[in-house]
Amino acid sequence: MNTDIRYKNILVTGGAGFIGSNLCRKLINDGVSIWCLDNLITGKIENVKDLLHCERFHFIEQDIKTFDFKILPSDIDAIINLASIASPKAYYARPIDTLLTSVLGVYNLLQYAKKEDIVLLQASTSEVYGDPACDILNESYCGNVSCTGPRACYDEGKRTAETLCMDYHRLYNVKVKIIRIFNTYGPYMDICDGRAIPEFIYRSLHNRDLIIYGDGKQTRSFMYIDDLLEAIYNVMNLDDIYTYPINIGNPNEEYTISEVAETIIRTLDSKSKIIYKEKLQDDPYKRKPDITKIITKTNWRPLVSLKEGLLKTIDYFENYDYSA
Ligand code: NAD
Repeated sequence: MNTDIRYKNILVTGGAGFIGSNLCRKLINDGVSIWCLDNLITGKIENVKDLLHCERFHFIEQDIKTFDFKILPSDIDAIINLASIASPKAYYARPIDTLLTSVLGVYNLLQYAKKEDIVLLQASTSEVYGDPACDILNESYCGNVSCTGPRACYDEGKRTAETLCMDYHRLYNVKVKIIRIFNTYGPYMDICDGRAIPEFIYRSLHNRDLIIYGDGKQTRSFMYIDDLLEAIYNVMNLDDIYTYPINIGNPNEEYTISEVAETIIRTLDSKSKIIYKEKLQDDPYKRKPDITKIITKTNWRPLVSLKEGLLKTIDYFENYDYSA
């Protein structure tokens, strides 16, 4: 399955991060011109260094909260907003910036999308469902989120961003597309940002103990980055009037965190052990997407198994330049 995208000049915000750099690389390979905006707060210029020589790739080091869009060319025809502090470790350290980037950043982008009459795809998250009271998460579930807990800066920021998108659509007919991304992994993740898969790979490679918060029986459904990119293409190609949130994830690959840790240790033939520590506040016990909506709308399906995706991700980190 290989889809073409219908846009030619795309602004990708957060383009130097994990998902953004993979997306920019795919778009450039597919002949699209990219304006990649990132303030490098968690992303890295190294993630896109292979693209910097390409004349269709333009890197702008700026903050979406304050960016003045006047410097962009007039033929930008779509925005993909991935800019956000996205790992728990990073948003615990910078909660106010996390919240404001979601709210003021999206507001700024919506004003620009409205003025130019262009599509905005907003990267939302399964975290909008909080610690869910149901097993399989459908887009109609309104969530169980604490607005005062330590994760609220991220969860509530993303929820407010969705609200702003919908209000701009209802009031001004701005063409917004909202995707709720579930746990995604792959090459170009930040090895130090504390997310489970890169953290476990890093520790296993160095024979250090793997730390799991809670009893390890909490499950996640893991989607490989290539499946997400294909889904983004499909959603971007949907008719512009389609505006409601849409889940993107891989319900077929649901594993406990302990199973993921054990698989990585085994695959790397590592001497690491697993240590269990106290559960983190508001950490959901289960997060499995219902993806009926995206399948019905686009025919997209996730194809990559955790086993296959982990091998590709491990291969990337085995050759990773840890000094960069
Ligand atoms: P990431 O941290 O690797 O990338 C985010 C990028 O946004 C970074 O390059 C960072 O420097 C940039 N950024 C942050 N604040 C900014 C600001 N104010 N102005 C400009 N740039 C800014 O994270 P990721 O995993 O690639 O996530 C990308 C998007 O997808 C995020 O919006 C995240 O919330 C969403 N998402 C990711 C996952 C996942 O599993 N990776 C799951 C759900 C949602």
